[in-house]
Amino acid sequence: MKDIIESKLFINNNFVSSSDETTFDLFSPYSRDHVARVAEASIDDVNTAVAAAEAAFPAWSALSPIERGKPLKKLAERILEEKDELARLDAISMGRPVRTYFDADYAGVQFNYFGEAAYAQGHTSLNTPGFLNMSLRQPFGVVAIIIPWNAPLIFFGKKIAPAVAAGNTVILKSSEKAPLTPWKVSQWITECDFPPGVINVLSGHGDISGAALSSHMRIRAVSFTGSTATGRKIQIASAQSNLKNVMFELGGKGPALIFEDADLEEAAKGTENGINFNSGQACMANSRIYVQESVKNKFLEHFKRLASSKVFGDPEDVHVNHGPQADKRQYETVLKYIEIGKRNGGKIELGETSNQPPGADSTSGNSGNESFTIQPVIFTNVPEDSRAMKEEIFGPVVVINTFKTENEAIFKANNTEFGLYASLYTKDLERALRVSKKLESGMVGVNCSSPTGSWDLPFGGWKTSGSGRESLLGGLDQFLEHKSVYFKCPGIGV
Ligand code: NAD
Repeated sequence: MKDIIESKLFINNNFVSSSDETTFDLFSPYSRDHVARVAEASIDDVNTAVAAAEAAFPAWSALSPIERGKPLKKLAERILEEKDELARLDAISMGRPVRTYFDADYAGVQFNYFGEAAYAQGHTSLNTPGFLNMSLRQPFGVVAIIIPWNAPLIFFGKKIAPAVAAGNTVILKSSEKAPLTPWKVSQWITECDFPPGVINVLSGHGDISGAALSSHMRIRAVSFTGSTATGRKIQIASAQSNLKNVMFELGGKGPALIFEDADLEEAAKGTENGINFNSGQACMANSRIYVQESVKNKFLEHFKRLASSKVFGDPEDVHVNHGPQADKRQYETVLKYIEIGKRNGGKIELGETSNQPPGADSTSGNSGNESFTIQPVIFTNVPEDSRAMKEEIFGPVVVINTFKTENEAIFKANNTEFGLYASLYTKDLERALRVSKKLESGMVGVNCSSPTGSWDLPFGGWKTSGSGRESLLGGLDQFLEHKSVYFKCPGIGV
């Protein structure tokens, strides 16, 4: 029997229990073993963290970017040294296979980059006669960061690094499904010389600490990654409290368009990985594939072969590349959508056995038959108005439908409320550019699909997939206010 992790709240550089001593239990979605007892942050804990962050803000924001960068770079180093342990913690909490783990490298890059690149600058202007005008960039103050479970360390890095580099102090709330990597990294914050109160890390459920952060009167900005439904709640809570600045990275229902001139094998490779990476638990997943009718059978053949070759089992095993869904709730949600797809007339081309209770899941490789693993499911012919086509499933379930013409492909791709990541495969360069331009999406992959991206370019979505953009080059901007200063200077001359 392995030791149960006791994870606490990190406030003002101290590990503390919840003010009311409440905890919740975390179970492995593979073995169902009890892996951790986690502190549930209360509203009082949120208030304590806000007070600590407020107290830390004046001194932290007054430091030069070089001084603020020093602890960031130390933290980057620590994260990179401990990547195996971090991978293990995400494997036991939300089932991410260690084989596919690049999250520590990603977070390391964020802390290293923003440790050096926090030279925020505004503009100056002589356009008003008799004035030297200037715009300044200044931190918000206390910023709340609320993250999901599907890649916790990635969100921890891409949000905390630019926020604190810009001079803000932060309170991060981890997801109740995956609190262990944020908790682990918080163990190194003091030794990396962050002053008390600059980074506070809370664990707990959204309706308690998440809601308290979103409606807090002394928090001036919230950076949120998670579902569109929760984004709406945070938007409302922000509006009803102090109208805080909100930055959203939300859900997706990514389309991939496969034209008949595409390299079909490459297209199948890219899109199969695009939907099944992290067991389909990716915001950018291409869950709707539209293939030109003339090449449907060939594409489907390649796709099926790839999706049938997954290695299931314990996410801690380095051979496994397809882990379980994050927990029972996610597992049941995915099964519900498989049922909807079937009921609406969709044809299952692969993965029939996944639509069974956990005990009967013969593909899980779990000797106890208790894993929440779902093998990849391929649907064809699902009606466009089915909920399985309209709503985010967040599981290894893809629909492969067809189109005849380019216009029809674009119409179907855009016929959604989401707009995060779209992709298209063709050898025709002009078509690639024309279609990229017409897709209503924050990111477009040409002859590649998610999670392919570029860490320096803006990451984010159109429509209900979000607002604001994250990236190495632009990330700092999100965490800075603008201030215009009109400096009357009659003697300045012409
Ligand atoms: P979720 O919205 O259920 O939860 C996200 C976070 O919000 C958690 O920490 C949760 O505790 C908190 N929360 C829940 N209710 C809240 C409330 N009322 N007030 C404040 N906080 C609250 O999402 P999830 O299931 O953790 O993650 C999956 C979703 O995240 C998917 O929709 C996925 O597409 C999206 N996602 C988007 C991106 C992106 O960059 N666009 C990246 C990863 C995941």
